[in-house]
Amino acid sequence: MREVIDFNRAPLTGKEAEYINRAMANGKICGDGPFTKECSRWICQRYHVAHTLLTTSCTHALEMAAYLADIRPGDEVIMPSYTFCSTADAFVLRGAKIVFVDIRPDTMNIDEKRIEDAVTEKTKAIVPVHYAGVACAMDEILALAEKYHLKVIEDAAQGMNAYYKGRALGTIGDLGCYSFHETKNFAMGEGGALLFQSGEYLERAEILREKGTDRSKYFRGQVDKYTWQDFGSSYLPSDLNAAYLYAQLEIADKIQEKRRRLWENYHQAFARLEEEGAVRRPVVPDCAQHNAHMYYLKLKDLKTRTEFISYMREHGVMAVFHYVPLHSSNAGRKFGRFHGEDIYTTKESERLVRLPMFYNLGEDEAEYIIDTVLKFPNW
Ligand SMILES: *Cc1c(COP(=O)(O)O)cnc(C)c1O
Repeated sequence: MREVIDFNRAPLTGKEAEYINRAMANGKICGDGPFTKECSRWICQRYHVAHTLLTTSCTHALEMAAYLADIRPGDEVIMPSYTFCSTADAFVLRGAKIVFVDIRPDTMNIDEKRIEDAVTEKTKAIVPVHYAGVACAMDEILALAEKYHLKVIEDAAQGMNAYYKGRALGTIGDLGCYSFHETKNFAMGEGGALLFQSGEYLERAEILREKGTDRSKYFRGQVDKYTWQDFGSSYLPSDLNAAYLYAQLEIADKIQEKRRRLWENYHQAFARLEEEGAVRRPVVPDCAQHNAHMYYLKLKDLKTRTEFISYMREHGVMAVFHYVPLHSSNAGRKFGRFHGEDIYTTKESERLVRLPMFYNLGEDEAEYIIDTVLKFPNW
């Protein structure tokens, strides 16, 4: 009997142990060590962004972004309801009210045409989530932000190494957030990054990340002693985690190529199911160059999905669904409201199922998954 195919396994390149050992030999395993610096520099150069600060998670990068965007109690923040709770949590922590807007059924991203109607005098920011590493309609979103003087904070947790009209996701809005959780394309266990182009955020961001101190300046030799400057927390990851991440950044193109191949294989294999009307496959608009973060199928309805997931499990494949829309959760009802009609958010989220999709997935495993999907008796 074959082994169960997990939904996800953390990426392993083979170099991680060597780099972690090197970090240990450095005798410095706290934050902002050599590997943290290398990773930040790599991201800045590759994606043409002025500043990258590694963080302990994307959730924490979002918290920092909410603070840097000066979100205050009573402010409203617009985002999709079809997202992970951290997208909202970061702003709720600052006292904001969350205003959920419907998604587009093709990309599962926020429907840019429904944002303007949700803007009020209290609106301070728009948070586009690039679902599955497929870009939101950033031109339209940036135009609205300019018109109403709003900040744009990209939740690019799934979007590293993906582009919108040639610009890297996470570098287009005022602030961008990546995740290096083990389920993402590039991972360090738990971790993330905050990206921004404008120098106006830098000093405040460094202080915020370093427990409210100017320790970053101290390390650069700009002050003799570091002291408490302002409100802050501890958002700086250990250099051990950055060492793990660096092993993947080094071979980012290879990782991307492997994921793209897996994604394309799935996509081609399921074309027939789409023609027969059994599923909808992911849609990638022309303006978006995606990063093969995720492969999902949208089935007929909730009942079919439930049957599908247990069928796959019986055959040793872990397929999963995610995101119960935030507006229908306890916290979502408490901290937010849905603006306009929920035409697609609930309906589309109930149909969606994700297939295993990770760097170390074997070609034979992928073939077996495809074969098993095609043989689902209830199509
Ligand atoms: C993974 C994810 C997060 C959270 O990332 P962490 O690094 O685990 O905090 C936030 N938003 C989205 C859309 C995600 O996919």
